[in-house]
Amino acid sequence: MTDVKIGILGAAGRMGKMLIRSAIETDGSALAAAVVRRGHEAVGSDAGTLAGLAPVGIAVSDNISAAFQQCDAVIDFTTPAASVTHATLAAETGTAFVLGTTGLDAGQLEAVEKSAARAPVIVAPNTSLGVNVLLALTRRLSSVLGEDWDIEVLEMHHRHKVDAPSGTALALGRAAAEGRGKNLDDIAQRTRDGITGPRRQGDIGFATLRGGSVYGEHTVMYAGDDERVELVHKVGSRAIFANGAVRAAIWASSRPAGLYSMADVLGLGDF
Ligand code: NAD
Repeated sequence: MTDVKIGILGAAGRMGKMLIRSAIETDGSALAAAVVRRGHEAVGSDAGTLAGLAPVGIAVSDNISAAFQQCDAVIDFTTPAASVTHATLAAETGTAFVLGTTGLDAGQLEAVEKSAARAPVIVAPNTSLGVNVLLALTRRLSSVLGEDWDIEVLEMHHRHKVDAPSGTALALGRAAAEGRGKNLDDIAQRTRDGITGPRRQGDIGFATLRGGSVYGEHTVMYAGDDERVELVHKVGSRAIFANGAVRAAIWASSRPAGLYSMADVLGLGDF
């Protein structure tokens, strides 16, 4: 079988460099394009060098349309506004699209999801295997423990992260709400400050910590009377996200147009 040609959007970013490495090193994938913002200083340099590897003979480019034409699958870890534009290009070429960028608002997500009518699109706010197992466990546990168990989602990330709560924390909150047959928007308590009054039964609370170089830690806490259950995931390296995204891109490249999740990629549907 020939290698799946993969393009990386946001190639000069923290995740972009890890993705270049993973696309080069993963069996079954080949790096075909590494794209940065228009006018970025890395344009013209070798993609391997940009990622701290030996040169691979692929020049970093700012031609996004060409990447969609050349590649079987494109991975996006950029910014919400850029991701919406990129999803539109995926729909035009029918190229498989893995959205790793987080922080998209409802309108932006809807725009990305529309592209799924014309291309395979994976919306993947967290591409790690462990977190996707955590999502499945959260959905299950929330259906078992009744509303007298208060659910709180706690997360910590590095000081550079710009959105809060993290995309993963919100996905965990959604999984917990689904487990209880609820819509997260109706029961989310995203911030608390000052005289908040007592906790409303059934709410799902969020707490956000930012600092240092922490890659990502999430806890889903079930606080009952006199006992507590905690599901915890901690990231040791960004490589897990890059490897998961490349795995998703390989998977998506042979799927029909449609909207998919990491649970589909990892076969966690019946977990
Ligand atoms: P970063 O700021 O280091 O990198 C983003 C890169 O995108 C920058 O190099 C920027 O120049 C580039 N960019 C912006 N607009 C662009 C455009 N129009 N075309 C091409 N490139 C463009 O950020 P990061 O830490 O790499 O994270 C990027 C995104 O990925 C964030 O939304 C983050 O939350 C998300 N993320 C997701 C996961 C996951 O598992 N899905 C894991 C880690 C980070």
